[in-house]
Amino acid sequence: MEVRVDLLDKRAQEPPQHRHLYFAEVWREVVVRLGMCGCLACIMPLLPTSTSEIANEGGRRLYSKWTRRTQSTHTTTDKQAMTTEGELVPAALTEDPRSWVGQHFLSVTQLSLPALELFLREAEAMKALVTAHGGDRRMQGRILGSIFFEPSTRTTSSFQAAFQRLGGSCLHVNESTSSAQKGETLSDTVRSMACYCDLVVVRHPVKGSVCSAAGTCPKPLLNAGDGTGEHPTQSLLDLLTVKLELGEITGKTVALVGDLKHGRTAHSLARLLCLFSGVKLIFVSPESLSMPEEVKEYVGSRGVAQREVFTLDADVLAETDVLYMTRVQKERFATTADYDAVKDIFRITPQVMEQGKSTLVLMHPLPRVGEIDEEVDRDPRAAYFRQMENGMYARMALVALILGVPTFHTQSRLS
Ligand code: ASP
Repeated sequence: MEVRVDLLDKRAQEPPQHRHLYFAEVWREVVVRLGMCGCLACIMPLLPTSTSEIANEGGRRLYSKWTRRTQSTHTTTDKQAMTTEGELVPAALTEDPRSWVGQHFLSVTQLSLPALELFLREAEAMKALVTAHGGDRRMQGRILGSIFFEPSTRTTSSFQAAFQRLGGSCLHVNESTSSAQKGETLSDTVRSMACYCDLVVVRHPVKGSVCSAAGTCPKPLLNAGDGTGEHPTQSLLDLLTVKLELGEITGKTVALVGDLKHGRTAHSLARLLCLFSGVKLIFVSPESLSMPEEVKEYVGSRGVAQREVFTLDADVLAETDVLYMTRVQKERFATTADYDAVKDIFRITPQVMEQGKSTLVLMHPLPRVGEIDEEVDRDPRAAYFRQMENGMYARMALVALILGVPTFHTQSRLS
C-alpha cells in the first residue's frame, strides 16, 4: 500500500531542506488514516521506496521525534511530579529540545539559562521564518485550544496567529459562553478542551488555578496568566524583546514600574531575569502596590541585586537600561476609591524620557491606561509595539518546542 505518493512526488520538487517536513506529513497521514501505532518499524514497509531518500535527508530524525511526541502527548500527566500535598510540580525544561516535548508550561521557574538560550534561538528563527515566508506548515492537522476567563487581546491573538502561521488551527472558548456558566469546574473545562486539541492555553483570575488544572490535563497546558500569579509566556516575549533591542541581557539594570503587587508579568519577569548574571532589579511602585515578598525572596535567594523605591526619580532613570511599565490593575482592587487613589501615580512623558539613557528600552506588556503618553510612541526607544509583535514569535517558538517540531533539534550551546 502506498500512502500519499502524489504528495511525495510533488514535494520531491521542493528544495531538499524542506523535504523532511513533508515526509513527516506522510507519516502523520499513515497514523491518522490507518490508525497505525506510528513506530518506525510499522510504518517503513508501508511507504514508497522514494521516501527512503527523503528519510536520509533528515526525515528520519523528524520522524522519530514525532513518534516520541505522540507518546509524550499521551503521558503528559504521568511525567509530572507531585508534592506530598498533591500539587503538581511542572517539569524542568532544559537545553535539550526533547525535555520540552509534551510538557506543561506553567511557571518561569521551569526554565534554566541554557533552556532560555534554546528558546531565544528558536524565537529568533521564527521571526526570520515569518519575515522570509510568512510561516510554514509544521502544525498542519494540529489544533490549539484556548480558554480565557479574563479579557485578553494580545495573548489570545498572538497564540492564534502563532499557531496558524505554523499551519495549525485554533479553537477558542470564552468564560461567558463556556459551561463554567453552568457551574463546571476549571479542571473539567480544561479536560474537555484537551479531548479536541493538541495543546491548551488557559487564563484564569485565580492564582494557582492553571497549575491545579494541569494536574488532570492529559495534553500540554500553557499558563496564559493566573490572576496575580504568573504570566510565563509574557516573560518569554519580554526577554526576547530585551535581547533583540539590546543584544544581551547579562549585566542590565531593569526597573519594573507600577502595580507590582498585582502585576503577574512583573512577577514572572523578575524571576526569569535572575537567570542572567549581573542583572540589577529596581522595583518602583507606590508602597501599597509593592512587589510581593515571595518574589523578593526568590530574587534574593538567587543572589540578584534588588532595590525597592516608591518614586520614579532621575537617578533611577539615569541608571536604567530597561524601563518596564505596568498598569494599575483596576479589576484587582476591592473598591474604586482604592484604585483611584493610586491609578495615576506614574506617567511616562517625553520629558521623563529625556532623563533616560539614549539606549533605554521602554517596555509595557499592555494594555496601557495612561502610564505612557501617546507622544512617547514616536520615541525610537519606545519598544512596546515591537514587544507585542515579538509575542507571536515567542509563542511560535514555544508551541514548536512543546509539540516537538522546533527548528533546532539539537541542544543549544552553553554560553
Ligand atoms: N496583558 C497583561 C496581563 O494579562 C498585562 C495587564 O493586563 O496589565 O497580565
